[in-house]
Amino acid sequence: MSRAKQSMDGNTAAAHVAYAFTDVAAIYPITPSSPMADTVDQWSAAGQENIFGNQVKVVEMESEAGAAGAVHGSLAAGALTTTFTASQGLLLMIPNMYKIAGEQLPCVFDVSARTVATQSLNIFGDHSDVYACRQTGFAMLCETNPQEVMDLSPVAHLATIEGKVPFINFFDGFRTSHEIQKIEKWDYADLKEMCNMDAVEAFRAHALNPEHPAMRGSHENGDVFFQHREACNTAYNELPAIVEKYMAKINEKLGTNYDLFNYYGAEDADRVIVAMGSVNDVAEEVIDYLTAKGEKVGLVKVRLYRPWVSEAFLKVLPKTAKKVAVLDRTKEPGALGDPLYLDVATTLREAGLDTIVLTGGRYGLGSKDTPPSSLFAVYKELEKDAPKSRFTIGIVDDVTNLSLPEVKPAPITAAEGTVECKFWGLGGDGTVGANKNSTKIIGDHTDKYIQAYFQYDSKKTGGITISHLRFGDKPIRSPYYINQADFVACHNPSYVTKGFKMVQDVKPGGVFMINCQWSDEELEHHLNAAAKKYIADNNIQLYTINAIDKAIEIGMGKRTNTILQSAFFKLANVMPIEEAVDFMKQAAKKSYGKKGDAVVEMNYKAIDAGVDAVHKVEVPASWSNPAADPAPKKLTGRPETVKMVEDLMNPISLMDGDSLPVSAFMGNPDGQFEHGAAAYEKRGTAVTVPTWNAEKCIQCNQCAFVCSHATIRPFMLSEDEVKAAPSNIKVADTKPKASEYKYTMSVSPLDCMGCGECITVCPVGAIEMVPQESQADEQPVFDYLVANVSKKPGMPADNTVKGSQFNQPLLEFSGSCAGCAETSYARLITQLFGEHM
Ligand code: SF4
Ligand code: SF4
Repeated sequence: MSRAKQSMDGNTAAAHVAYAFTDVAAIYPITPSSPMADTVDQWSAAGQENIFGNQVKVVEMESEAGAAGAVHGSLAAGALTTTFTASQGLLLMIPNMYKIAGEQLPCVFDVSARTVATQSLNIFGDHSDVYACRQTGFAMLCETNPQEVMDLSPVAHLATIEGKVPFINFFDGFRTSHEIQKIEKWDYADLKEMCNMDAVEAFRAHALNPEHPAMRGSHENGDVFFQHREACNTAYNELPAIVEKYMAKINEKLGTNYDLFNYYGAEDADRVIVAMGSVNDVAEEVIDYLTAKGEKVGLVKVRLYRPWVSEAFLKVLPKTAKKVAVLDRTKEPGALGDPLYLDVATTLREAGLDTIVLTGGRYGLGSKDTPPSSLFAVYKELEKDAPKSRFTIGIVDDVTNLSLPEVKPAPITAAEGTVECKFWGLGGDGTVGANKNSTKIIGDHTDKYIQAYFQYDSKKTGGITISHLRFGDKPIRSPYYINQADFVACHNPSYVTKGFKMVQDVKPGGVFMINCQWSDEELEHHLNAAAKKYIADNNIQLYTINAIDKAIEIGMGKRTNTILQSAFFKLANVMPIEEAVDFMKQAAKKSYGKKGDAVVEMNYKAIDAGVDAVHKVEVPASWSNPAADPAPKKLTGRPETVKMVEDLMNPISLMDGDSLPVSAFMGNPDGQFEHGAAAYEKRGTAVTVPTWNAEKCIQCNQCAFVCSHATIRPFMLSEDEVKAAPSNIKVADTKPKASEYKYTMSVSPLDCMGCGECITVCPVGAIEMVPQESQADEQPVFDYLVANVSKKPGMPADNTVKGSQFNQPLLEFSGSCAGCAETSYARLITQLFGEHM
């Protein structure tokens, strides 16, 4: 059966299937599941029909607990109901999940599995949320990649309708939910054909209905509750066969071999990994590499996690297996082992397979990348006579010594001919959008396979984005970061001056392109010694492009992304540049046609400019032995804070947090940090920042009152304080009456987020936005004032707008989005009530 191909992520694939089988979607947004609910809502609003010929009714509730309650009620009323969630959201649903499962109501919760907050919040992926639901009575089905989400999600819907056991249908948050692949899509006619309509009718007929009333949710005492509870066993015993039946139907349509467990690798493997989720694709690549060299390794992929079917597991485990490593993507502190390990241990024990050496490993918590080097390390460990019984991969645990050593760089295991590209951008600068557009161009106009994954930090706007794009003629698995790229682009020159390790991810002979306004001499000055040495020693093809000035010249202002996109096509050689330019221009016409010919023409110019403006830098031989970098500036301040900034925050800010070992956190295993570290970060992300006009200002302090980031602040200075200040300080007599003090309003240009809230609120236009670079001299003024100038007697009362702003804010430089409405309140409370609020 041939299906239409489309580029989409795992969330869209899950939404496509969920929509087909859903009457009602009760939703509440939570990262990374929100796009599923959002997409279903959009399709519903557009009038799309499910396989029953109806539009899905979407109801957004006040919380995930409310959404689960609405699911329960809607199911009881006979509507096939779905929800989408993750992490704490899923945990909030647990009480209702017990009731839904206990009342044998068929439904599917699509979960993009995400970390549950412990010592800190983490919005990224692991399986700690779904594992926390093991006891609810929900069945659990797991998929490995976006194609599997598309292929297998119908199994959850079809099996729940027939088996009356509700399902968690889950896949890895971010890695699968947000990874874009060109995949084959179900036609709803095929889904309808597989659906047991008699079971659907029976479910609807079972609805609570005043025409034939019944009672549910009663109370039972100790005399009957237990035996009544055991009455559900049959449904769970029968469910695996129902799942197998629908997998077989799907296999028949697609030519696949999906099963409760699938085996991959050498038929006579002696070393076997057991895992579920996206790590299976990494393991497959490593297995292909190792078996080609004659090694006997394999993988058991878990698909139906609950109910756990030991016979099905044992059926696929090679009889030759001598050592088994079970990988869990969660941590159950104090347990004998993590959950999947315990399931496998029990299975082997009950089957009498006591001679198999069983080990348990933990990986990927909070979206820790799991590259091939981690899987090579597991198989290597299993070669030992006595491998570690418990281990971790992907980190260095120098405290409890659980981690396995990993050799990097590991052999390249991606499909032969895959082109790997990596882009460093700034949240909101258009890099991610341009890369999505590039993958669409390549995916839609060539036979190539594509994979696009976008790595964000949680600072949202103004944070770093790293786009990982792969293109190839063979199917792409590789669910891990690119670190041996053919092409790396740095779209923000500040990343070079900050010293991010970017070029080190280019493979020997590859291309490194920097967007900057620098001459070659200036570039030499800004690149650090390690980068120069790597470039020279590895024959890196170094290019610069001044998209910043080019964009201004063309009339596109700060929007450099189109120019950089065509520069990528020119240098990365993924497709002929003439065709790429043509497709980019077609896309620009489609996107901007309604805005008029002038806008389209401007985009055409930007596309042509990107091709022409790349400049090859001749790398001097001297870069092989570069001069040492100047010593970093000594930090001052509270010793505890400085230590924390140097030991933890600086490597994290340099995107090098992966290098920190467990011992780095032994000072604060509970997640408590020193205050005041944000003041050291100096992100410098604002394009424009305010400048103050001392004459116009009426000194109302409203600008400081609204600033979410505490980056514009008023001060009163004595004569001595004015004298001691940097000479460029601007001061005015105090208003409405002159006094012995001078007044100033100071801005921290490197902390300001450029939101413009202060400009909006100023009643007299006494501040205006100017380019951030032009205000570099203001930073020492701001730093001097914060460090040296304190409150003066006779200032307006603390509980006034004006008076409160002379108080030191104890929440400053928050990493919230620019102009966030919440942080200004939190900051104000600290100014009103101080340290002891
Ligand atoms: S632009 Fe926004 S962040 Fe910057 S000082 Fe004004 S209010 Fe604060
Ligand atoms: S809001 Fe305007 S007038 Fe008021 S203190 Fe700020 S700059 Fe001055």
